[in-house]
Amino acid sequence: AKEQGGGGRLEIYAADMHAQVVSRLELQTELRQALANGDFLLEYQPVVDLESSQVTAVEALVRWRRGGELVMPDVFIGPAEQSGLIVPLGEWILREACAKVALWRASDWDIALSVNLSVKQVLQPRFVETVAGVLAESGLPAGVLTMEVDEEVLLENPGEAVERLSELRRLGVRLAIDDFGMGYASLAHLRQLRVDAIKIDPSFIRDLGTDGTVTLLTHTIIRLGQDLGMQVIAEGIERAEQLEQLRSMGCGYGQGFLVARPMVAGGVEALVGGEAEIAL
Ligand code: C2E
Ligand code: MG
Ligand code: MG
Ligand code: MG
Repeated sequence: AKEQGGGGRLEIYAADMHAQVVSRLELQTELRQALANGDFLLEYQPVVDLESSQVTAVEALVRWRRGGELVMPDVFIGPAEQSGLIVPLGEWILREACAKVALWRASDWDIALSVNLSVKQVLQPRFVETVAGVLAESGLPAGVLTMEVDEEVLLENPGEAVERLSELRRLGVRLAIDDFGMGYASLAHLRQLRVDAIKIDPSFIRDLGTDGTVTLLTHTIIRLGQDLGMQVIAEGIERAEQLEQLRSMGCGYGQGFLVARPMVAGGVEALVGGEAEIAL
């Protein structure tokens, strides 16, 4: 194809674009069917208090059971946002996670829940009512629920997003900034929107202890969060040295494969029942 003139390349390009559009539309159709068929499921990743090693919360993470394979959210959240399916899907995720955590709490386990939000959901007119409705239905106290947004939420439609999220917070729901430090103007966002927690992006944790600048930045983020009265959660802890560094810097909470991998509900139940424990 390289030997052909420009016209030939253009045709190949057009055919390629066409194939991409078709496959995106097919994926969106498949996703809609998956929601109708109940082919989504949730995994839960424990969040641990680094001082006591106690599991204090779980973060709900969605997966798609597609034939025999488990498809990860990086593949389908984007398309679900583009097609608008994220609105009903997000509602299903919230309802499912709240029901499960309400059940675990009923067995006398003081566990909190974190759920990820897409900007499309936040900008939906009935968003706050929907969350309030799901909480009422599950009996979960609002303060047990944290909603995680990444900084992208604040870029798309800042005024409106901040208004909606502040309204949510007035219900008593907690807010967290996910992937903190990655976005453009992370610090400016803390001025715009009051949040209860920041989750330090895994890219910082990865280079902890080996890259002096990253180590200093991480320490600064931890102190900043604490000074602002926020919970600070380090994400992506994979190695013991990272855990040690974070502890010595006074980071309050952590999440990562070293602590615990995302697990199906049954796995969390084993933790509740004391059949499994997290050793740190
Ligand atoms: P996130 O909210 O930042 O979630 C953390 C991701 O990091 C999860 O990937 C988790 O499995 C992974 N992770 C946790 N610990 C480690 C570690 O130690 N090392 C590494 N390498 N990875 C770790 P996952 O489940 O594939 O989710 C990816 C992203 O998809 C999430 O990032 C979130 O932005 C989005 N997502 C997941 N579930 C939902 C959902 O229910 N709704 C929405 N809107 N987005 C979701
Ligand atoms: Mg998250
Ligand atoms: Mg994210
Ligand atoms: Mg994150």
